[in-house]
Amino acid sequence: MFSYEEALKIILERAAPLGDERVNIVDALGRVIAERVVSGRNIPPWDNSSMDGFAVRTSDVGSAREHRPVELTVIGDLPAGEKWSGTVGKGEAVRIMTGAPVPDGADAVVRVEDTREITRDRVRVMQSVRPGTDIRRAGEDVRSGDMVFSPGIRIRPAEMGMLAALNQPSVRVFLRPRVAFLTTGSELADLGEETGDDRIVSSNTYSLTGQVAEAGGIPLNLGIAPDDPGEIRRRLEGALTADILVTSAGVSVGEYDFVKDVFQQIGVEVHFFKVRIRPGRPLTFGTYGNKLVFGLPGNPVSSMVCFEEFVRPAVRKMGGHARFERAEMTARAREPVEKPEGLTFFFRCRLVQENGEWWAETTGPQGSGILSSMVQADGLMIVPEGKTRVEPGEPVRVHSL
Ligand code: AMP
Ligand code: MG
Repeated sequence: MFSYEEALKIILERAAPLGDERVNIVDALGRVIAERVVSGRNIPPWDNSSMDGFAVRTSDVGSAREHRPVELTVIGDLPAGEKWSGTVGKGEAVRIMTGAPVPDGADAVVRVEDTREITRDRVRVMQSVRPGTDIRRAGEDVRSGDMVFSPGIRIRPAEMGMLAALNQPSVRVFLRPRVAFLTTGSELADLGEETGDDRIVSSNTYSLTGQVAEAGGIPLNLGIAPDDPGEIRRRLEGALTADILVTSAGVSVGEYDFVKDVFQQIGVEVHFFKVRIRPGRPLTFGTYGNKLVFGLPGNPVSSMVCFEEFVRPAVRKMGGHARFERAEMTARAREPVEKPEGLTFFFRCRLVQENGEWWAETTGPQGSGILSSMVQADGLMIVPEGKTRVEPGEPVRVHSL
């Protein structure tokens, strides 16, 4: 039986990015850049003013003080969006707005608060300035030729803005993996169906829908199959066009747990069917060509934790993400936590900040059927195989959700 780390490595080695497509940047939020984006321009394109004020020659205003202002001749007006073709000479200034190109001859901007206008063409400067004051330099944000983005970066609003600043209307992004999932169990009803006194709603169907989408995949719900190997096989065979196949439940050793057999009948190469973790020990993983196949345990928390720790990184790696694993942080355990040796545990925890430190407290009962423990969690506290007890105040690794 593999450890958590070994199992994850086996999975990730088999997850490779899919192809790519070009999308308009307005549709690119959350997508992953699949190309190198090199700037063909300086941003900003020219030296420009960062203030409303007057473009001046610093040599003219070196002696300017509140009580001993220097008077200059205003030779022009520069609203944003206009360019001044003349040159600022000795004793001269140009009225300039934020963003307007700094005219030739001027080497600083005096902000309007440090001036007093006598007339439209005479201004008193009350403050000396150093060369470069309130000038934003051409290319100070991005230089022409800079590589602005490399493949693997997730597009957030900032990336959308930057692509627009580069005047790039579209961008190549990785294809989103199609993740088909089938929940199995003769006790399951779908949302809205009559449950009577012998059935439960397949909540896994909906937590999986959310988890797939959150990981950047396209969720394809294959519905609910009863505990009937023929039916499970038929449904899975109909979904072999997906990039990742996920089943829920039927992977333990109960009399009605056929998922592993069905995988083998279809021709899935099963790499493991158990991992030394809790929750989720009966996790099955296989491959079918370059498709990944996961048999998740049925208990709602086990299903979610296994998805979170094993399927999510694979979906993200297939989706081209350079950073496919969750951000990990260190927190201090709030209370003592005990577990058996030989299994990596994922305790659902809440993260609270106190005196500048993060503390992790478990979200009540941790049974693998207690979905509330997941609802209240904002992290998974990872306690390694070798440990049997965590003392209050002891640092622990947490995957932040
Ligand atoms: P199994 O892996 O089939 O032994 O299922 C383990 C437990 O998870 C049982 O209590 C099932 O009723 C429950 N379970 C299985 N599938 C689902 C599902 N889709 N939604 C909610 N609970 C489930
Ligand atoms: Mg079952």
